[in-house]
Amino acid sequence: MNLPILPTTVIGSYPRPKWFREVIKGFKAGRYDVEALNEAADDAVVAVLREHEIVGVDIPSDGEMRRDEMVEYFAERIDGFKFYGPVRVWGNNFFRKPAVVGKLSYVKPMIVEEFLFARRNTSKQIIKVTITGPYTIADWSFNEYYDSKEELTFELAKIINTEIKKLEEVGALFVQVDEPALTTHPAEMEWAVQAINKSIEGINIKVGLHVCYSNYDILKPYFDVLKVTQYALEFANRGFRDLEMVKGLTKELGLGVVDVHTRRVEDPEEVARAILKAISYIEPQYLYINPDCGLKLLPRSVARAKLNSMVKGVNIVRKELGKRGLSEIPFRTNI
Ligand SMILES: [Zn+2]
Repeated sequence: MNLPILPTTVIGSYPRPKWFREVIKGFKAGRYDVEALNEAADDAVVAVLREHEIVGVDIPSDGEMRRDEMVEYFAERIDGFKFYGPVRVWGNNFFRKPAVVGKLSYVKPMIVEEFLFARRNTSKQIIKVTITGPYTIADWSFNEYYDSKEELTFELAKIINTEIKKLEEVGALFVQVDEPALTTHPAEMEWAVQAINKSIEGINIKVGLHVCYSNYDILKPYFDVLKVTQYALEFANRGFRDLEMVKGLTKELGLGVVDVHTRRVEDPEEVARAILKAISYIEPQYLYINPDCGLKLLPRSVARAKLNSMVKGVNIVRKELGKRGLSEIPFRTNI
C-alpha cells in the first residue's frame, strides 16, 4: 500500500462540536438517556472524520470524541482502578485522578468498537488510532497497590499490549501510543522505554509514539531503543529551533507543523518552510506531517483552519518533490 509523499495526519483529539457538548451536559443532568448520548457521539465522530477528509487529511482520526480525558478513559475500563475527586492539571483543566487499589486486569476491549465505527464511516484506508501509553497512565495515577511505579507500569504495559493486539486482529493499521509524561522523570527513562516496548511487543502494524511538552534531549538517546515505527513530535511550538535533533533518525518522523497552544492560524508558506527545513535533516520519504499535538482545546473553526493550512503547506512542498520524481511512499509497518 502506498501513500502520497508527506502523508498528512492528526495527532488524535479534536474539538467536540458544541451540540455534542450540550448533549453530554444534558446526559449528565438526566435529560438524555445513554442511547441519545451514544447516538450524538456517533454523529460527532462522523462530523470529525468528514471534516478531516474535506480538509484533505490523508490519515484521519475519530477526534477521540468519546474520551473526556486520555488517562481517565482507560483507567475506567481497567479493573483495579478507583477514582478520587478531580485534580487540577494545567490551566483550568481538571481530571479525576485514578488510583490503583488492586491487581490490574484487562476486562474487555476498550477502543476496538470506536475504531470499527470510525472505519465504517470513512473512505480513507488508514485511520490513526490513539492509545495512552503505560508510563503516562502510571505517572498520572496514585499507586496504592504495587510495590513500585515500575511494577505498575509493566502491568499496564501488558494490558495495553492486549488491547493493541485486539486492534490489530480487527484490522487496525496504525496505532499511536501517547506518552506525554515520558520525559518528566529522567531517572525513570531506562525502564519506561522498556515498558513501552513491552506494550508493543508482537505487534506487526505501524506503531507511532507521540511525546509532547517535553525535553527531547531526554528522549533522543532512546530513539533506536524504542521499537516504534514513527515518532510524532511537536516542533511548531518551539519555532522549529531544535529540529536538528532528528538528524540521523532511523525511524519515520511525524513533524508537528502547527502550534496547538495559539489561536493564530499559521499560513501555508510557514508550514512549507518548516517542512523544507525538516527535509534538510531527514529524507522526505520518512516524513509524516501533523499538528504538534491534539487540537482538542482550540475552537473548532481554528482547529479546522490550522489543518487546512497544514494541508496547503504540504501541497506546496509536494509540488517541488514531484519535480524530483517523489510522489509516493510505502506504508511501513516496521523499520
Ligand atoms: Zn500531545
